[in-house]
Amino acid sequence: MRYHDITRDDMRNGDGLRVVLWVSGCDHHCLNCHNPITWDLEDGLLFDDAARDEIFAQLEKDYIAGLTFSGGDPLHPANQSAVYRIAKEGKERYPDKTIWLYTGAIWEEIWQLPVMRYVDVCVDGEFDEKKKDVKLLWKGSQNQRVIDVPATLQSKNPKKPVLYCEDYAADFDERPADTGRAPCEG
Ligand code: SF4
Repeated sequence: MRYHDITRDDMRNGDGLRVVLWVSGCDHHCLNCHNPITWDLEDGLLFDDAARDEIFAQLEKDYIAGLTFSGGDPLHPANQSAVYRIAKEGKERYPDKTIWLYTGAIWEEIWQLPVMRYVDVCVDGEFDEKKKDVKLLWKGSQNQRVIDVPATLQSKNPKKPVLYCEDYAADFDERPADTGRAPCEG
């Protein structure tokens, strides 16, 4: 797997301060994607032991709430096994920290993937420019869903997402300040 960046103390891609892994590779090619530079699987840096260690050094910190996978698409077929290994190790070593995952795929296609055992929140679906709303919480367009993965998988119908939060924050002005890095909106 290749990746473009590992960002630290990120406030825009899940609850709390997080470490975010921006992977390479996405076949969704959404119109006005924030990160088209990440589409090419062959671009970016090789995800090596040093990159892995960088993520776990961040997770070691008490104030880091967890790890977010974004990109690019962490569930591109070429990325799935590496993302699975990182998520598994992350959850096993830090069970109290959360794992978020952004993907352009829809839940109905991915809910059975092994990685979902270790994901707390999945934001699914392609970014749809026509449904864009900057006030949406943790997502870029209305069609996307912020899914409570454990609650969904434990429900009677795990193919039907249980949502993690409302579409909008109770008070938009209380959302974290912009830290200067746009989220993957897919
Ligand atoms: S918005 Fe996300 S899913 Fe869509 S093309 Fe960009 S990286 Fe891929």
